[in-house]
Amino acid sequence: MRLAQLDGQVTVHELAVRGLAREFHTPNSELYRRIAAVKVGAGRLGELVMSECLQLFGGCGYLESETPIGELWRDIRLVRLAAGTDEIMWELIAGGLVPDDDSYDRLVRTDP
Ligand SMILES: Cc1cc2nc3c(=O)[nH]c(=O)nc-3n(C[C@H](O)[C@H](O)[C@H](O)COP(=O)(O)OP(=O)(O)OC[C@H]3O[C@@H](n4cnc5c(N)ncnc54)[C@H](O)[C@@H]3O)c2cc1C
Repeated sequence: MRLAQLDGQVTVHELAVRGLAREFHTPNSELYRRIAAVKVGAGRLGELVMSECLQLFGGCGYLESETPIGELWRDIRLVRLAAGTDEIMWELIAGGLVPDDDSYDRLVRTDP
């Protein structure tokens, strides 16, 4: 079940990356925003995947003399820092958020 859950999440991110790649020939601010969202999600998922792999292999997963998993676990962590940290990606995403006051009013309207 654990591997199936991770595999499902990886598949979703893979589809997202492929979808963004198809749009790459028409760059625009919304595309950059979505790229930032996928970069953050994929980086954090990669970290989770490597952490779970390490857990499955127990001590052998941690010891770099036994398997390469410990090294991969450390290396994948760089994705959240390099080429724009998570925080900078969140800044890009937040910058494109557009308030939808009309929908909000419709949802929370209390007057008859
Ligand atoms: C192994 C390795 C390889 C690298 N390769 C490259 C490379 O090839 N090319 C390249 O250009 N760079 C490279 N870098 C640099 C990498 O991109 C930077 O480390 C990264 O951008 C973070 O910058 P910083 O280390 O100066 O941290 P800082 O900018 O000091 O940030 C520290 C923390 O504060 C957060 N932070 C900073 N500003 C804000 C803000 N405005 N709002 C909220 N949070 C904020 C950051 O997200 C981070 O969590 C590499 C780094 C490493 C470790």
